Amino acid sequence: MENVFVIRYSEIGLKGQNRGWFEKKLIDNILKIVRPAAVNKRYGRIIVRIGRNDPEVITQRLKNVFGIQNYSLGYAVSHDLEELREVVIKVAKVFVEQGLKTFKINAQRGYKEFPMTSLEINREFGAYVLESFPNLKVDVHNPDFEIGIDVREKEIFVFSGKIPSSGGLPVGVSGRALLLLSGGIDSPVAGWYAMRRGLELQTLTFLSPPMTTEKSVEKILSLGRELSKYLPNGLRMWIVPLTDIQMYIKENAPDEYSLILQRRSMMRIASMIARRSKAKAIVTGENLGQVASQTLTNMAAIEDASSLLVLRPLIGFDKVETTKKAKEIGTFDISIQPYIDSCVAFAPKRPATKSDINEIRKIESQLEKLSDLEHEAFKKRESYRVTCTE
Ligand code: ATP
Ligand code: MG
Repeated sequence: MENVFVIRYSEIGLKGQNRGWFEKKLIDNILKIVRPAAVNKRYGRIIVRIGRNDPEVITQRLKNVFGIQNYSLGYAVSHDLEELREVVIKVAKVFVEQGLKTFKINAQRGYKEFPMTSLEINREFGAYVLESFPNLKVDVHNPDFEIGIDVREKEIFVFSGKIPSSGGLPVGVSGRALLLLSGGIDSPVAGWYAMRRGLELQTLTFLSPPMTTEKSVEKILSLGRELSKYLPNGLRMWIVPLTDIQMYIKENAPDEYSLILQRRSMMRIASMIARRSKAKAIVTGENLGQVASQTLTNMAAIEDASSLLVLRPLIGFDKVETTKKAKEIGTFDISIQPYIDSCVAFAPKRPATKSDINEIRKIESQLEKLSDLEHEAFKKRESYRVTCTE
């Protein structure tokens, strides 16, 4: 008898010709993120063998693997009816002790040479459970618990309960993107949703030293550590100093446009980093209408400076929804730490909420040193690699 997890995967089953590749990616991600004893693909499911690992720890880590729909903890046993009985009773006992009253056995016989049909298995093992726990009753329509018995050629799986996972697609199948990670609540959540659609992430953060300190760096790295739990190869993080650009804009451009001009510089630097890192899109935590930088015209003016596709996973979110998710994924408490990222120190008094793109371009074209300063900032980029070591 061996502890296993039976994993059912979601959309990746639908991907036609790519299916094999998706499955391979999923298995590879499980190996790297969950670090179990072994993983095999069997009969359209994935079997995770936990070896000496703690099932509790494996359960937690499986939740961080995108592409899994749900999973069950169970046992693998040999074709030995005595051993099978023992396991079925063991599983039933847990539910009986929780006070559950009705059950059903749900057998499947993928291996047709097995001497009993699935109906016979249901009947015989149902009767056996009733014998051991006389207060239980069978209810085939709406049981309190169900015990699955899956008979396969080399072994039989016994499992119960479906633990829902995060769904989505295996990280990496959609390629790579660069997340603009601020110290706020939104961008880490945007990163989570991007990863859920199969994107492997790198992050880029702009800081304003010396106004920002080591504490800001630590805060950003802590956010990165939370995001890295979902990434099979860890997270590459970039930090770029924006101070010289912010000062130059402040001194040489109309105050009301300084925010948009800063953001346009961010986009150009992000595009440089993305191209080097082979990232095909930029992800931001923007959503519509919260703040001055996020009106439709301002967003368009900011995006205009990017040479890559800009994705905004939170575009339709309310702040309450984003906050709830941030708490769920463990980034909220880090995000509300007081250490600032770049913008606060240089925020304009009255930022323009409607910007005319032609005017912005004209103002920018008169900022002669801007391009050099952006290249200098790019050269000063610092790189960190974080992995989640629990
Ligand atoms: P967040 O909660 O993610 O900070 P926000 O509601 O504060 O978002 P803005 O400050 O307008 O909104 O930022 C919008 C997006 O721009 C952020 O979600 C992030 O993707 C990006 N961004 C803002 N500031 C920075 C920064 N200093 N470094 C990297 N990206 C940033
Ligand atoms: Mg912010």
